[in-house]
Amino acid sequence: MTDILSAIAAENGIIESTDTPNTTANTDTNNQAATTDAAEENKVTFSDLNIAKPILTALDRSGYTHPTPIQEQAIPFALAGRDLLLSAQTGSGKTAAFVIPVLDRLSRATSFDKLTKALILTPTRELAQQVHDSVRTYSKDMRGLFCVPLVGGAPYNGQITALKKGVQVIVATPGRLLDHINAGRVDLSSLEVLVLDEADRMLDMGFADDINDILKAAP
Ligand code: AMP
Repeated sequence: MTDILSAIAAENGIIESTDTPNTTANTDTNNQAATTDAAEENKVTFSDLNIAKPILTALDRSGYTHPTPIQEQAIPFALAGRDLLLSAQTGSGKTAAFVIPVLDRLSRATSFDKLTKALILTPTRELAQQVHDSVRTYSKDMRGLFCVPLVGGAPYNGQITALKKGVQVIVATPGRLLDHINAGRVDLSSLEVLVLDEADRMLDMGFADDINDILKAAP
């Protein structure tokens, strides 16, 4: 797995968020408002990024019109189908930076079949749930698109039922996903996109062997 990460970094570099909180004090409020308006006008919007309509609608509903810096940097590359290594803090909007391009790619299909096309691996079940929530939020207007979180510590029944019905997106922790793969319940042969969220943490937690086994089940 470290080989894959090094190869992506060598080929494309690492996109790093330099997002820092704005702590500049300004006592001239009129002047500040005018500056802010002008800055807003010049800022890139999600519509500028050529994101598919249903996702734009969902973003709009969430009240998000402008991408965060990591989103602005990453989304155009990801939409172009490039492999990316992103480095950003929690709170920078990094989840949407990879969820939006994944959904955009899936939304370009004329109809949804029930094959798993995207897999997002996370180190913890909390993070998996957060990513799953994000997928659901931004795919609300994509009828027929299904996502399931496959995490350890949760009952198998609901996960198995969802897998039987068919899901295009799986968000999983490595151990539980491997259980499902070994039991023949997950088929990754049609996989198009793989996201390793917090890859460094997954390595620190000793998931390298599991991830390598998962990769063997993917094309
Ligand atoms: P994350 O860094 O992925 O944990 O995201 C932190 C928070 O930022 C989440 O609550 C998101 O809903 C929110 N968020 C994501 N994208 C944007 C955006 N473009 N504008 C404002 N907030 C956002």
